[in-house]
Amino acid sequence: MLIKTGVATKDMIASKFPSEETLKKPKAILECFECIPCNPCATSCPFDAIVIEDGVTSMPYLLTDKCTGCGQCVIACPGLAITVAQLINNQALFKIPYEFKPSPLKGEIWHGLNRSGDIICEAEIKSVQINPNVKTALVTVLIPKQYLYEFSTIKRHE
Ligand code: SF4
Ligand code: SF4
Repeated sequence: MLIKTGVATKDMIASKFPSEETLKKPKAILECFECIPCNPCATSCPFDAIVIEDGVTSMPYLLTDKCTGCGQCVIACPGLAITVAQLINNQALFKIPYEFKPSPLKGEIWHGLNRSGDIICEAEIKSVQINPNVKTALVTVLIPKQYLYEFSTIKRHE
């Protein structure tokens, strides 16, 4: 499915998530499915929580105990392949990369999209961190927990 459509299956996505118990704290979700020569996720992590065994060409994996959910790796990944997820009661809080302009604003309600670009839910913008030296903004959004494995990004209401 990934090779044919570019969209990972739900099982592939779920395999990248830790347990719901672990997700009571924010953890990076590394949706990196191919061994490519790339490592900004690992080098950007201040806590050495991302490991790439051979240094650059194997798939990264997370040392969940070390991850604080800070989001540094989210804006460092050139493939926009990382989010941070946390479960809070019946909701899921995501930190996602966002590169379109204008950026969302705190308090706005946007659409939540799945990996095929379909609208699946509403997404409340909780915060937006913009670093003028980095083209990728770090956007924190709240969505219903049931879309934990489907949610991918956001789209402004038209
Ligand atoms: S969210 Fe922060 S602590 Fe966790 S892996 Fe990414 S950079 Fe490291
Ligand atoms: S920076 Fe992104 S694309 Fe590169 S290895 Fe890490 S997760 Fe994969």
